[in-house]
Amino acid sequence: MSQGPTRSLPPFDPADPLGIDDLLTPEDLAVRTTVRQWAADRVLPHIADWYERGELPGIRELARELGSLGALGMSLTGYGCAGASAVQYGLACLELEAADSGIRSLVSVQGSLAMYAIHRFGSEEQKERWLPRMATGEIIGCFGLTEPDHGSDPAAMRTHAKRDGSDWVLTGRKMWITNGSVAGVAVVWARTDEGIRGFAVPTDTPGFSAPEIRHKWSLRASVTSELVMDEVRLPADAVLPGATGLRGPLSCLSHARYGIVWGAMGAARACFDAALAYATSREQFGRPIGGFQLTQAKLADMAVELHKGVLLAHHLGLRMDAGTLRPEQVSLGKLNNVREAIEICRTARTILGANGISLEYPVMRHATNLESVLTYEGTVEMHQLVLGKALTGLDAFR
Ligand SMILES: Cc1cc2nc3c(=O)[nH]c(=O)nc-3n(C[C@H](O)[C@H](O)[C@H](O)COP(=O)(O)OP(=O)(O)OC[C@H]3O[C@@H](n4cnc5c(N)ncnc54)[C@H](O)[C@@H]3O)c2cc1C
Repeated sequence: MSQGPTRSLPPFDPADPLGIDDLLTPEDLAVRTTVRQWAADRVLPHIADWYERGELPGIRELARELGSLGALGMSLTGYGCAGASAVQYGLACLELEAADSGIRSLVSVQGSLAMYAIHRFGSEEQKERWLPRMATGEIIGCFGLTEPDHGSDPAAMRTHAKRDGSDWVLTGRKMWITNGSVAGVAVVWARTDEGIRGFAVPTDTPGFSAPEIRHKWSLRASVTSELVMDEVRLPADAVLPGATGLRGPLSCLSHARYGIVWGAMGAARACFDAALAYATSREQFGRPIGGFQLTQAKLADMAVELHKGVLLAHHLGLRMDAGTLRPEQVSLGKLNNVREAIEICRTARTILGANGISLEYPVMRHATNLESVLTYEGTVEMHQLVLGKALTGLDAFR
């Protein structure tokens, strides 16, 4: 095998065995370092406690700090948004989710769902009204699509908006809505006589409430809520003019799923790192457990899937930056990376033995978080059906 002119190979880096960092620009690396440092300072020291308490205290302050990092609506342009590349946004998602999926969810919902919907489908007035203060984190946004009886099949939603003079009157319930109880604006999707439309709903409008959902065993350091809309009267200009039909919310979801493709690998990296450190320090039968072939096989397989996943995310990022990323490709990435991430976390759990179930280590927290990530933004089965349809030309959804 020829390698061209003889030169010494770079050393093997256990943190980057494929040399993926060589694909990143200095700006990419700077974004990664900044977000990693912020997460190390502001999230990691507290996350086990927040998780145990089932709270995300100081969420507004965290949102403002994320805003000052440029992480909110990061890849959007104008209106105070950072205008970063898709790869940089992805790297930020990875670093945030390496701390906790709840923090990445806060950022994804804010930037890729609520802000993206207003940025892409809103009027100039709506963009000016909401986006600059969402980019700073002053206003938190949520995105209401899922309903108690309609999750994977949002086309069957019951929430509806009717015209009354020039106003709209919005009635219905949304379920499992990230950031709901702390949001200042809710992007709510509703059935109308013109098809499904999106509304930017100020959450202090009479008739709107957002009780928090408790008793979750996953994404515990994340606010998840129900949205209740009881004849919420909205002015004509609350509707997002650029979106009619399900394509509107689905394009937002595609953007958010892209962030998850990267983010899931962050959770996986945190678990891999914990498992590697544990395997080289924990001794049984007189030597480190990382010296046993069975443990090495686990670590090798975890590393293969982790770095393949990052490579896949980077590839999709380049396509998004080039404007050539298809939704089916995002489905492929989300399906693979979340499924593999959860497998990596579960394998890491076995390497840590009993310690693997303790909040002293990040592994079980990430594994249980990923149960939500596996389900939201399209379940595994939905992405299999998306790919199945693209491969065969046959629609198996119903
Ligand atoms: C922590 C958390 C945060 C969330 N945040 C948000 C948010 O901010 N905004 C929002 O709108 N939603 C949010 N969701 C909701 C999430 O998007 C939905 O849970 C998801 O779309 C699945 O819907 P469902 O739970 O109703 O499951 P269902 O649609 O009832 O599915 C149940 C099971 O049936 C399978 N299934 C359904 N149809 C088919 C089929 N045709 N073929 C094969 N299998 C099928 C599914 O894959 C799944 O395994 C969140 C969920 C969680 C857990």
